[in-house]
Amino acid sequence: MLSVLVHKGQIIGRGHNQRIQSGSVIRHGETDCLERAGRLPAEVYAESTLYTTLSPCIMCSGTVLLYKIPRVVISENLNFTGEEELLKSRGVDVMVINDIETIAMMRSFIQENPTIWHEDIGERSVDEEGSGPPLYS
Ligand SMILES: [Zn+2]
Repeated sequence: MLSVLVHKGQIIGRGHNQRIQSGSVIRHGETDCLERAGRLPAEVYAESTLYTTLSPCIMCSGTVLLYKIPRVVISENLNFTGEEELLKSRGVDVMVINDIETIAMMRSFIQENPTIWHEDIGERSVDEEGSGPPLYS
């Protein structure tokens, strides 16, 4: 999904999930955003806010903690609740908007693309257990 890194009111990075476009297993919206922002001094991360469509998964939450990004604004967390409690327990200011349009968009995406969705969150697809993507390709 989509993520934007904002520093002092300016967008310094933006990214989106690259599973399909680049065949990436680690470029979620958040990690792709940071990758595209490039190498930044620690103080820039420490003064930034990460805006993201979905509640950050464990990988993306770990990235937020690694770079000490102090604030995360989440568009919706009803379709997927990531590691918000972990972030909060480490002092990150987490704000959830639960935007109605994002909730509906994500619900449709998950219903229409269950295999991609489950692959992206590291789960087996409910209706395709045992027949997921090839382990080696
Ligand atoms: Zn993620």
